Amino acid sequence: MEYRLLTAQLGPAGEALDTLLAYEKAGGYQALRKALTGMTPDEVVEEVKASGLRGRGGAGFPTGTKWSFLPRGVLPRYLCCNADESEPGCFKDRYLIDKLPHQLLEGLLIAAYALDVHTAFIYIRGEYRRQRLLLERCVEEARAAGYIGKSVMGTDFSCDVIVHGGAGAYICGEETALLSSLEGSRGEPRLKPPFPAVKGLYGQPTVVNNVETLSNVPHIVARGGKWFAGIGVERGTGTRLICASGHIQRPGVYEIEMGRPIRELLEEHCGGMLPGHQLKAFQPGGGSMQVLLPKDIDLPLDFDSVQKAGSSLGAGAMVFMDETACMVNVSMRLVDFYQHESCGKCTPCREGTYFESRLMHRLEAGQADKAELATLADICDNMDGKCFCPLGDTATWFVMSAYRAFRDEFEQHCGAGRCPVSMPATGSHEDLLMAGSLL
Ligand code: SF4
Repeated sequence: MEYRLLTAQLGPAGEALDTLLAYEKAGGYQALRKALTGMTPDEVVEEVKASGLRGRGGAGFPTGTKWSFLPRGVLPRYLCCNADESEPGCFKDRYLIDKLPHQLLEGLLIAAYALDVHTAFIYIRGEYRRQRLLLERCVEEARAAGYIGKSVMGTDFSCDVIVHGGAGAYICGEETALLSSLEGSRGEPRLKPPFPAVKGLYGQPTVVNNVETLSNVPHIVARGGKWFAGIGVERGTGTRLICASGHIQRPGVYEIEMGRPIRELLEEHCGGMLPGHQLKAFQPGGGSMQVLLPKDIDLPLDFDSVQKAGSSLGAGAMVFMDETACMVNVSMRLVDFYQHESCGKCTPCREGTYFESRLMHRLEAGQADKAELATLADICDNMDGKCFCPLGDTATWFVMSAYRAFRDEFEQHCGAGRCPVSMPATGSHEDLLMAGSLL
């Protein structure tokens, strides 16, 4: 069953609440009022800690703990909402902004109050131009209503919100690259430590939270951290917005209670695989994550269970592939993506993705021999864990997990004139994956 928490206020057909009036009619901004007039900043932080909310951007770090890392008394300090959603297969933050932009603003303002922040940023992906314009309009609506600016809701809390559009670089989803870009520098990751909580934007303490993470905050404040912790499972509380795509009957965004089986998502919400086709493999967390197999379909949808199975829930993109998907082709296209998005700062990633891509193209075209498979594994081994930031590591995860699980398929490609994986008569696997918005 779909669990409505973040999407509870939407109409029965998913109608958007993208104006202040519509959002207020649905009870919007009451949680902000409750926080500002009835809770101290520390009490808000404690509620978020009690909720067990973990970050929805990929790493799954506990949000309340992250907030409590900010050193006391060091001002100014900043809050940045990471809306640079660029993971292949991921479009749930865009959905949340389209449907409930004021829910995000309310969460951002509550977080700013809790953290003693008076300037908050929303860093939004460059390609999300329509969503940036929508957020800018919503910020002005909220400002006119007295929810943003000086003396928010007549209290002594003041906060400005700035919407900043990125320039279309995947790496700016990495929090330190995001901060560099926001400062006007080239979007490259910085060495950690110091972590942004200590030395972030303009060298000041900074918290970076994802869109979905912040959208949960009004619900936690309105109904309590304990109530929120009762949804889902112990180390995976609340719900997850999952972007489902690939060879399925109903691709889309689904809100699922944490801990429900992945099979339920596939069969009940997504309508199962395309008629006449079987599940061959799936990615549980977007393009970066290791492939899982049909035997894993009953795994509970939560951080720890998916991690134990050798992959990660990542940013919440679930890509289902049937028997027509060629794992060499899928790997090649993902490697191309990472090569294109490598910022070039460190050698293992800059050079590694280049050689990885070249080799994958030879393999896909049937020009590589079996000895080159060992070279591919060697390249990946020299990247994973040896790059400056996670992009370089993740550029190896799918390809190596696919190589381990579908070794025969990789070997069949060696010296083959064409892809040996059987294709349907109409609609190649490429068309279907494109239709599913990934790869
Ligand atoms: Fe840049 Fe890649 Fe190195 Fe990250 S791993 S710093 S993206 S070159």
